[in-house]
Amino acid sequence: MPELPEVETVVAGLRREAVGRRVVDVEILLDAHFLPSAAELADGLRGRRLTTARRWGKIWFVDTDDEQTLVGHLRMTGQLRVQPADEPRLPHTHLVATLDDGRELRWRDVRRFGWMHLLPSAEVAGLPELARLGPDALAIDEAAFVAAVRASGRGLKALLLGQEIVAGLGNIYVDEALHRARLHPTLTAGRLSRERARRLHGVMREVLSAAVAAHGSSIDGQYVAVDGELGSYQHAHRVYGRAGQPCLACGTPIVRIVAAGRGTHYCPSCQRRR
Ligand SMILES: [Zn+2]
Repeated sequence: MPELPEVETVVAGLRREAVGRRVVDVEILLDAHFLPSAAELADGLRGRRLTTARRWGKIWFVDTDDEQTLVGHLRMTGQLRVQPADEPRLPHTHLVATLDDGRELRWRDVRRFGWMHLLPSAEVAGLPELARLGPDALAIDEAAFVAAVRASGRGLKALLLGQEIVAGLGNIYVDEALHRARLHPTLTAGRLSRERARRLHGVMREVLSAAVAAHGSSIDGQYVAVDGELGSYQHAHRVYGRAGQPCLACGTPIVRIVAAGRGTHYCPSCQRRR
C-alpha cells in the first residue's frame, strides 16, 4: 500500500507533469469512489487549470484555478499516471482527464479502495477523512512527537499505524523505523523514555527521507510513480518482507508476527520487548 514516500513521489510527479495544465476533458470509464458523484466531479474539473499539488500523510490534494480541490487517497492499489493519449489504457482505469498538452492524467485502481473528492477548497478542512489526522510524519517536531508517544497506552505499531498522532506511516515504514530504533513493535508507547522517543522521531524522519529520495518502495508492481517508474527503497528494507532471513545488524532470523492486525516484521535480538 502506498505510504508517505510513495504518495510524496506521486505528488512530485503531478507537480512536474500536470500542475499548470488545463483539463480539457474528463471521461469516467468505471464509476468508483468519486464524490460528490462521478458526473459532478467530471463536470467540475472540465476546463479547470491545475494550480498546485500537495500531500498530508497519505492523502493527496490538487487545487484548481476556481478554488476547488481534488482530494484523494490511493489506498491499496490506486495509481495516478500522466501518459500520452496513444498509450493503451490499462484495465481498471476509472478516470481519464485530458490535459491541454494532449496527454492524459489517468486514475487506475485494481482493488477499488481508493477515493477521490472534488470540493470547494474552503471545505477541505472539514472532510471527515482529515478530522482525525495528526501532523505529517515529515513535519511533526520532536517535542510534539515525544509528548504524544509518551502519553499513549497503545503498542508502538498500533500507535504509529493509527495516523492520529502522526500521519503518513503504514506497515512498511513502521516496521523499518522500529527496527532502526531498536524498539519492539508491541512495546507500550507510554513506556518509552524521553531519550528513546526522541530517537524514534529521528529514525522515523531518516527512514522516510531516504525512502522519498529512492522514490518509495515498489512491491508486486502495485505502486508506480506518475511516469510509470518503480521506486527502489525495497532494496533497503531491513525487516519488512524478510521473515526468516538474517537481521542485517546481528544475524538473528527476522520474525513475522501479527501486531495491530497487520503482518509485522522485527528482529527478536535487536528489538527486545522491554
Ligand atoms: Zn538484529
